[in-house]
Amino acid sequence: MYRIGEGFDSHRLEAGRNLRIGCVDVAAPFGSLAHSDGDVLAHAIVDALLGAIGEGDIGRHFPPAGAKWKNADSRVFLAEAARLIADRGGRIANVDSTVILEAPRISDHISAMRAALAHALGCDATAISVKAKTAEGLGPIGAGAALEARAVALVWLPGAE
Ligand code: MG
Repeated sequence: MYRIGEGFDSHRLEAGRNLRIGCVDVAAPFGSLAHSDGDVLAHAIVDALLGAIGEGDIGRHFPPAGAKWKNADSRVFLAEAARLIADRGGRIANVDSTVILEAPRISDHISAMRAALAHALGCDATAISVKAKTAEGLGPIGAGAALEARAVALVWLPGAE
């Protein structure tokens, strides 16, 4: 049977921090304010995958309180979500996602993001879609104060139809 999952994440942007999106470091004078590496796209995809298999959310598996996951590389979270799916005999059918960020433009990084996300998940890059939009100057994202990502995932699991 196929199961669908949805994920969302947002982070504030702050000067002098690293901007990592989809496991790729993007050159910018600002980055995500976060407990982990602040990778909104990876976090949204992890939540979508966990949602598809009814495994709660990223905060349940990797609690932000405490030191264990401080500055954590989100590839660890992606690999764990993929492991939970594989442990059920399942596989990732596809992931589609959108990053909403006013600047910098990330279109040149999308193929690297797809490859890096697929590598962390152990699937083919053709199964991972990443799209990018701006907020057209509207709201906190349009003002450059934040970024967000949305994802849906389709997972195949063995079992009753
Ligand atoms: Mg996050």
